[in-house]
Amino acid sequence: MNEFDLIRTFFASQPVTRDDVAVGIGDDASVVKAPAGMQTVVSTDVLIAGVHFPPDTDAASVGHKALAVNLSDLAAMGAEPAWFTLGLTLPGVDTAWLQEFCAGMFGLARRYNVQLIGGDTSRGPLAIAVSAYGLVPEGKALLRSGAKPGDRLYVTGELGDAGLALKHRRGELQLPDRDITAIVDRLEQPIPRIGEGMALRGIAHCAIDLSDGLLADLGHMLEASGVGARIHLDRIPLSAVYRAHLAETGWDLALANGDDYELCFTVPPEKISALEKLKTEFPCGFTPIGDIEAETGLRVVDEAGKPYSFKATGHDHFSSGDAKRTREAS
Ligand code: ADP
Ligand code: MG
Repeated sequence: MNEFDLIRTFFASQPVTRDDVAVGIGDDASVVKAPAGMQTVVSTDVLIAGVHFPPDTDAASVGHKALAVNLSDLAAMGAEPAWFTLGLTLPGVDTAWLQEFCAGMFGLARRYNVQLIGGDTSRGPLAIAVSAYGLVPEGKALLRSGAKPGDRLYVTGELGDAGLALKHRRGELQLPDRDITAIVDRLEQPIPRIGEGMALRGIAHCAIDLSDGLLADLGHMLEASGVGARIHLDRIPLSAVYRAHLAETGWDLALANGDDYELCFTVPPEKISALEKLKTEFPCGFTPIGDIEAETGLRVVDEAGKPYSFKATGHDHFSSGDAKRTREAS
C-alpha cells in the first residue's frame, strides 16, 4: 500500500458530517467557515512513541489519546471542537494497527462531531501530531490569566488515577486486576471535559487543563494571573481505587503525575450559585479544593491545616529528572 492508498483508505474515506467544511481532505488545503460572532481556538499536541506512550500501547488507545489531549486543551478554553488535522509518521504500513488507531480516534471524533479535515503522512518513527480547532463566542474564551483573589478554586472529576495506572504498567506497583481495569481508561482513553468547559463560559474567571499535574498546571495559572492560592490536600478528589492505595502511594500521583485531563478553574463568589446549578452538565462532578489569594505562590495544607511540603512538582520534558521517565517508557 503506498502513501496515497493509505490516505484514501484510512482518512479520506471518512464521511464529512459538518456543513461548515467547504473543502475537506483531498485538496492542497481545507477550507472551513466559522459562524459570525465566533472566534476560532487552535491547539496542537505531539505524541511520540516511547516518550508519551509505551510503544506497545494498543493502537485504539493511541488514536483516542492523540485527539483527546487536544480536545482537552479546547475544553480548557471553553471552546466547542469543530475540526482537526493529523500529522502522522509511521515506521511502515501496518493495516491492522491503522484500523485500530482510526477506530480509537474516529470513535472520539464522532462523539463530539469533530471532523478530520487534513493532515500529512510520512515514514518515520511512530509519532502523531494533532491540531484541533474549536469555536468560542467572541471574547468568551477562558484564559489562564483571569484568576482573581477571592475566587474559589475547583477541579473536575478525580485526580491521580492516570498516574496510578502508569505505575502499574511500569511494574512499580501491583494493582489487583479489578483495580487496574477500573482506572486504565483514565490513562489510555481520557475523556476531554468539553461540555464542562463550555458550561463554564461566563461563570469561571479562568481555566486550565491538567496535563502535567495539578502543581505544575496550577502554577502556570497562578503565574499567568499574578496571584497565589491555598489548597487543601484532603479536598483533592480521589477515586475509590486511589483511596484504597493512598497509604502506599501517597499524594504525589494526584498532585504531580499529570495525564489526568481534568479542568482546574476559578469561580468568583457571586457566580458560585450559578456553578452549583450546572451539576447536570458535569457528569464527572467538580470539587472546590481551595482559594485564590493575593499573595503569590502555592500553599498546600494538610488535614490539620499544617503546611504540606511536597517534593513532586509536575511533569517537564526538559527537566533532568525526565530522562528517567523517557527511558522507562521506551
Ligand atoms: P500535499 O503533497 O499537497 O501536501 P498530501 O499528499 O500530503 O498533499 O495529502 C493529500 C491530501 O490528503 C491532503 O488533503 C491532506 O490534507 C490529506 N492527508 C494527508 N495525510 C493525512 C492524514 N494523516 N490525515 C488526514 N488527511 C491527510
Ligand atoms: Mg502534504
